[in-house]
Amino acid sequence: MKKQKRFLLQENELPMQWYNIQADMKNKPLPPLNPATKEPLSAEDLAHIFSMECAKQELDSEHAWIDIPEEVQDKYKYYRSTPLVRAYALEQALNTPAHIYFKNESINPLGSHKINSALPQCYYCKQEGTTNVTTETGAGQWGAALSYAASVFGLSAAVYQVKISIQQKPYRSLIMRTFGAEVTGSPSMSTRAGKDIITRDPMHPGSLGTAISEAVELATTTPNCKYTLGSVLNHVALHQTVIGLEAEKQMEMAGEYPDMVIGCFGGGSNFGGLAFPFMRHNISGAKSTAFIAAEPASCPKLTRGVFQYDFGDEAGYTPLLPMYTLGHDFKPSNIHAGGLRYHGAGMIISQLIKDGLMYGVDIPQIETFEAGVLFARTEGIIPAPESSHAIAEVIREAKKCKEEGRKQVILFSLSGHGLLDMTAYDQYLNGDLRNYAISDEDIEKSLKDVPHIL
Ligand SMILES: *Cc1c(COP(=O)(O)O)cnc(C)c1O
Repeated sequence: MKKQKRFLLQENELPMQWYNIQADMKNKPLPPLNPATKEPLSAEDLAHIFSMECAKQELDSEHAWIDIPEEVQDKYKYYRSTPLVRAYALEQALNTPAHIYFKNESINPLGSHKINSALPQCYYCKQEGTTNVTTETGAGQWGAALSYAASVFGLSAAVYQVKISIQQKPYRSLIMRTFGAEVTGSPSMSTRAGKDIITRDPMHPGSLGTAISEAVELATTTPNCKYTLGSVLNHVALHQTVIGLEAEKQMEMAGEYPDMVIGCFGGGSNFGGLAFPFMRHNISGAKSTAFIAAEPASCPKLTRGVFQYDFGDEAGYTPLLPMYTLGHDFKPSNIHAGGLRYHGAGMIISQLIKDGLMYGVDIPQIETFEAGVLFARTEGIIPAPESSHAIAEVIREAKKCKEEGRKQVILFSLSGHGLLDMTAYDQYLNGDLRNYAISDEDIEKSLKDVPHIL
């Protein structure tokens, strides 16, 4: 039989609903809390900053299937389905009996999976009469996706980008501006939060935490303006399940079912998006797939964080979220996988880890670039440094398969390409990259300011 390399769905086979794993979880995620009263938040509370529909989806633990609005389905068709690819050349280079598949989310106008949630978030804002959207962005993938989606639905977008990242990665701010967004380096003098941060530390390089504080403040002080978020929250992972729902059909076309599903982990959206549709079969008892989230060794919230209520941002503006966290003022080392430098994990993921349905592994930076370069030289795609964390874990597992002589079917998410991350590859190829170790004392220190609620 001829070996098939790529598996694609036709437009009429694309998912028409997202999968909401909350409905099937035996232990539901704990509710987000109002930091002042410590009372659970309602959808109305959340709708002060998010669109009403996203606020409802965030707390929905009832409906397992949520309709994808037709207008969003139409926009998904610009780039979906994404290919499921069998990585024959990578398998061969590793001389492994494992079958390795990846879902290629790098093939779309912006180059990462983030667009899958940017489109519905902007659509709902538009539907509800919002004219302006705001957000933060670190490495710039989310800001770029949001800017694109805002232009698709005719909204004005204001993006706070981590100051140091604008300097290091000017191309992503140019993409945002090309799509019509206004880009501000954070911390900035344009918000109360930014001014406070700059007053305390004039040389502050900015972080996701500072940028979130500024964007949330703008959303709450500007009429008709909503905040959007590219990861961490439940509704974002919900939108990303188009990845796993497509992959489920495509694996069927390939005549296989994954023994392992692997994704890199920042806040959990690309991982959850691929994993949750498969995980529902573990929850029902029909399958026993292993679900593995690959995080940077320098930002190890899944493996070394604590499960606690914590703020989503540095200034403490957001609701308290139940999550595995390193502390909201944890300052991760300046690794190149900017999208993975976040102190906490999503609420669903945190509960799933607690319940033993999935687990995390830590990968040092240099190993991720070794993996990324091997992937580029075998499969011809230069992966985002974030995605290379998943690839590194895949390689570890494929090597184990070889040692143990076991054929496992491994599926992973290629969350984005690395074509705008070439200075990182430059450093790696020159031998200038380093690993960052983090001590237990450092983690303990940043956990000091976590409110002790649980
Ligand atoms: C943002 C990003 C991530 C991390 O975010 P998750 O929500 O954990 O998926 C991973 N890969 C790429 C390419 C990204 O842009």
